[in-house]
Amino acid sequence: MADWKKREIRIKGNPICTGVAIGKPFLFIFSDDRVPEFPINREEIGEEINRYRRALYRSKQEVRHLQKQLELDGAHEGIMILDTHLQIMRDDLITGHLENQIRHTKKNAEYVFQFIMNDYEKKFSHLSEKIFKERTKDVQDISRRIMRNLKKSAKISLADIPMNSIVFASDLVPSEAAEAQKSRVGAFVTEFGGETSHAAIIARSKGIPYVSSIDFHKVEACKDAYVIVDGRTGEVIINPTETTLSAYQALQYQLESHLQNLNNRGNLTAETMDGYQVKLTANVEMLREVELVQKHGGDGIGLFRSEYICISSENFPSEEKQFQVYKELVLGMKGRPVTIRTFDIGGDKGGSFLPQGEPNPFLGCRALRYLLREPEIFKTQLCAILKASAYGTVRLMFPMVSGSFELVEAKKVLQKAREELDQRGVEYAKNIQIGCMIEIPSAAITSDEFAKQCDFLSIGTNDLVQYSLAVDRGNQMMSYLYNPADPSVIRLIKMVVIEANRNGIPVSVCGEIAADPRFTTLLLGLGVHELSCSARFLPIVKNAIRGTNIISACKLAEEILMMTTAEEIQKRLNLEYKNSVPHDLFHNIQAVTAS
Ligand code: PEP
Ligand code: MG
Repeated sequence: MADWKKREIRIKGNPICTGVAIGKPFLFIFSDDRVPEFPINREEIGEEINRYRRALYRSKQEVRHLQKQLELDGAHEGIMILDTHLQIMRDDLITGHLENQIRHTKKNAEYVFQFIMNDYEKKFSHLSEKIFKERTKDVQDISRRIMRNLKKSAKISLADIPMNSIVFASDLVPSEAAEAQKSRVGAFVTEFGGETSHAAIIARSKGIPYVSSIDFHKVEACKDAYVIVDGRTGEVIINPTETTLSAYQALQYQLESHLQNLNNRGNLTAETMDGYQVKLTANVEMLREVELVQKHGGDGIGLFRSEYICISSENFPSEEKQFQVYKELVLGMKGRPVTIRTFDIGGDKGGSFLPQGEPNPFLGCRALRYLLREPEIFKTQLCAILKASAYGTVRLMFPMVSGSFELVEAKKVLQKAREELDQRGVEYAKNIQIGCMIEIPSAAITSDEFAKQCDFLSIGTNDLVQYSLAVDRGNQMMSYLYNPADPSVIRLIKMVVIEANRNGIPVSVCGEIAADPRFTTLLLGLGVHELSCSARFLPIVKNAIRGTNIISACKLAEEILMMTTAEEIQKRLNLEYKNSVPHDLFHNIQAVTAS
């Protein structure tokens, strides 16, 4: 091994989730131009072949669809070329032979497919006639199409990788992060991915440190080395020296005992030094998090991201299946309010049932927009939520509302769901509270309308930042612009609070800034009544609430509302936080946006 490979290498990335991890690397997903290779066991062969067949089927469908379009355009030559593609896709080499190879090699479909296609291409390219050269291009085209469809369904399970692995992945999707177990995944390190991407939110909710924007070329050479991930600063250290290693081991111990101390204070109330009570609730994606909400003394669930029931499945769950989940959630919270948000599918969460190929999924058919186009799916969910309301206190919340007309439409579907349940003679709470998420600037600006028509509002700052500043929340290249401390965002929050107060309804913040203690005093000073964050962060936020008082919070908010740049606001928040909680090991005071 070359000497430099043994040296300690420090790479600076973007800190996404706080915490420190030490472990061995595990290469998970590969960048688009690389092909994953992993073994499968005997029992998985059938499913792997089916996965390949589905990709092949989807590819043929796509080609047929293209042919139809060409027919409409009168481009008959193109239709014939695509006929050849369909013919190749029926060739035994990429049907029967390929399936046999999966059985024989016990390797994943992508790897076997790539191997066979390389062979196929080589054969054609050695032939000198022009027609065969052209055929090579067809084969490449088909290869790319099938591989793309295959990769969409590729799934290396994060559930059974070696303990304490540092997972290196090109990018992460929410369902992958959801599958990760903290005992096995010590940390995530990716090339791409933003701070409030849904995968990041899930990693944070599990307490898994995460650093993105890492140049993988430097990493590959060190596959067997030890790796340290510092999620507070965004540093990834490969081949640490003895001194670095023991310093980080000590820090890890300190962090754990600091957290333990905070966690032991679950029975303390979330109130400021001058006795102002704050409602501190939890954002929940999975049922199993309920226990943690209880342990940390959460006042309820401020956001249940219901879409996690279905993002990794091919179909929407039935009313009964959904009802069982919601009911368990409600019973688990033992009378405390549970805010169930209707499906927020689309954007980076995806979903195989969504319209495919939208050029701008975040600005497209997402969340309530999708549900209003699919009233049966919507009504099914509303029936399931209403049924669960008979078992405790349920609040219903609609995501990504851009204008009050959508709320009117949503209420019509809700009325239909009520009528259907009445007809069926099913019990449900007649006075369920209805709220909207304010996460699009148009909704914030017209929040007076929403406040009149809702029982509560909840500000989703993750999207509010994205849509106000026109920065994709998952795009790390643009992350320097994604800043919740931007004056426009702070002023929009204030605007919503004023309208909520005028109409006598509560307003919460459920975006990631609610989990960042550096924002706590400001949010209270702006008049936010409730903070909802991942259960794991309840103790940290509670600590920040207990360390501040409402008078200085209001003064801070007033001061910040006069500021004109995100940088200035960020500095001021850091200073305030440093003075109130001087020994927070978890937060790098240098960067407000790093959680
Ligand atoms: C938000 O946008 O702030 C929010 C809480 O919703 P999500 O992160 O699920 O889009
Ligand atoms: Mg949102």
